[in-house]
Amino acid sequence: MPLTVHVVTLFPDYFESPLRVSLVRRAREEGQLVIRTHDPRDHGKGAHRQVDDAPFGGGPGMVMMVEPLARTLEPLAHTHRVFLTPSGAPLRQDTLDRFALMDEITLVCGRYEGIDQRVVDHYIDEEVSLGDFVLLGGEVAAATIIEGVARLLPGVVGNPESTEHESFRSNELEEPQYTRPAEFNGWEVPDVLLSGDHGAIDRWRAEQRALRTQQRRPDLVPNRDADS
Ligand code: SAM
Repeated sequence: MPLTVHVVTLFPDYFESPLRVSLVRRAREEGQLVIRTHDPRDHGKGAHRQVDDAPFGGGPGMVMMVEPLARTLEPLAHTHRVFLTPSGAPLRQDTLDRFALMDEITLVCGRYEGIDQRVVDHYIDEEVSLGDFVLLGGEVAAATIIEGVARLLPGVVGNPESTEHESFRSNELEEPQYTRPAEFNGWEVPDVLLSGDHGAIDRWRAEQRALRTQQRRPDLVPNRDADS
């Protein structure tokens, strides 16, 4: 059963290029991943197909109106509906793991100052943020999720070990990687990687993961005091 990702966006063209390259393209061609875009402007108001209006209570910018989004989302009620917003829970690898197991998911991209809260209250199952910054719209976040999920679908990444041994599995960052040549500009790769001693290589990699995580992302390191 393929994963179908519905994307609600005022800019369906945005997805033309990023979803036509590399493994995402292959996943689509081989039928593991189906992408469908839905433009709320198709349900816009009046001759200009208006989809936004000034916020009640005043303030800068425009807000996406409830009705065009409601009409777009009603036929997608059977899917898991995710609104992309800086107010959502931060996107993490385990979020992607969860989404990759679903059959159908809908990613709702806001624009302008955001969307009418009644859409969130009545049509959204989960809110997800790409990070603590503000983008122009949710399309980058939707493309990020699609790419992150596509590589978890069975058979998309040739060697399944690639997605099992990487950053954020076991709450650790990945160790440094090297490939040929063994020396460039006098810069050598660590001797242990050329030693052929797989026990020593595994120990070195584990040390490097722990060191990197401690130095760069101490927030990922379990707090032993809290556990005891
Ligand atoms: N006024 C909103 C706020 O302060 O949170 C920001 C609106 S932003 C200009 C327009 C749309 O971009 C949002 O509705 C959301 O869909 C998307 N967006 C912006 N930053 C995002 C982020 N960090 N993660 C996910 N979506 C984001």
